[in-house]
Amino acid sequence: MKKIFEPFQKFMAGELSITENLKYSLIIYPLAAVHTIFFFLFFYVSIPLLAVYNLFSAAVYLSCTILLRREKYSLLYSIASIEIIFHTVLATIYLGWTCGYASYLFAVVAAGFYISYTFRRHQIQFPLIFGFLSVLTYFSCYWYSQNYSAVSPIANPVVLHLLYVFNSFCTFAFITTFSILFMVDVRMSQKKLFEENTILGKIAGNDALTGLYNRWSMKDILSDAMHNGRPFCLVICDIDDFKKINDTYGHNCGDEVLKHISKLLAESIPDNCHVCRWGGEEFLILLNEYDLDSAGSLADNIRLTISKSETVCPEHSISHTITMGIAHHHKNQTLDSLVARADLKLYIGKRQGKNTVVI
Ligand code: GH3
Ligand code: MG
Ligand code: MG
Repeated sequence: MKKIFEPFQKFMAGELSITENLKYSLIIYPLAAVHTIFFFLFFYVSIPLLAVYNLFSAAVYLSCTILLRREKYSLLYSIASIEIIFHTVLATIYLGWTCGYASYLFAVVAAGFYISYTFRRHQIQFPLIFGFLSVLTYFSCYWYSQNYSAVSPIANPVVLHLLYVFNSFCTFAFITTFSILFMVDVRMSQKKLFEENTILGKIAGNDALTGLYNRWSMKDILSDAMHNGRPFCLVICDIDDFKKINDTYGHNCGDEVLKHISKLLAESIPDNCHVCRWGGEEFLILLNEYDLDSAGSLADNIRLTISKSETVCPEHSISHTITMGIAHHHKNQTLDSLVARADLKLYIGKRQGKNTVVI
């Protein structure tokens, strides 16, 4: 049972896509079917003009599949709207108001605005024009039926009641179909938008080469850390003699070194801590809940790991070292001054001969 409803639930949740073709097929094929039923009905009650008109309408809708294939959606909507308006006028003149044909005009308005965004250049004038004509036709037909009697009224009250119920039911069915399709369409768009936003967020917040956070998203993380008042340390890491690596092995191998060291840095810090590519060959680590001593020993382990590891770049194994400067966050300190303090320690480390941690 669950298996039967699963595709339906997926469809309602916007997880199965509806194509424009399916959308319009759900309009024109049922319309063709309804007109075929009317053809037999009017043939049965001997109103030849309406029988022929309905046969003609059914044929028109079936030939509309050509327009469907050519994606002429505004023309398709216009033909269907004209046909429904004309049909309502004819039915009111011949059968009277009580046959219930006027209710189809509601569906013209509802469908027009829903499907308008599939029209060329999203033209809104089609639903506006046919919406206005539908309202005008509705009240004109009502006025006409109050002042003139029907040309060929259906004498059998059962047939008349059945016709009224059938027309009302079809109108409800059409409006319900449009409403469901509209809801599914909106859900599909929301899902797509959410997925695209997630990708965009990732592109905007992460460094393309290393996959680490970039400077801008790290600034947000840092200002959150500064506002929540918990202790933390900031570590600036800089690859030693990176220019020489580039010069010796080429820029591509330099990129590989950046990726390799980024991976090691990300793997070496606890889950509640963050690392970013601060710029060029510099990285910034935020160590939450760390004091200077514990941050110093973690940083030294990382330094050792990086110095022991090598980046394999096709024909070379490149060894590398990093220098780190650490600053502890004090209350009321700005981000810039905190970074400047860590930077100063890094500078001292470089002066001391590199491959070191300065706290
Ligand atoms: P120090 O030990 O003093 O830090 O010297 P260094 O050579 O590492 O520093 P320097 O600032 O002289 O050179 C950094 C180099 O990093 C220069 C720049 O071309 C290179 N670089 C910056 N970004 C990238 C990148 O994305 N890929 C590669 N391959 N190189 C980069
Ligand atoms: Mg540098
Ligand atoms: Mg450097």
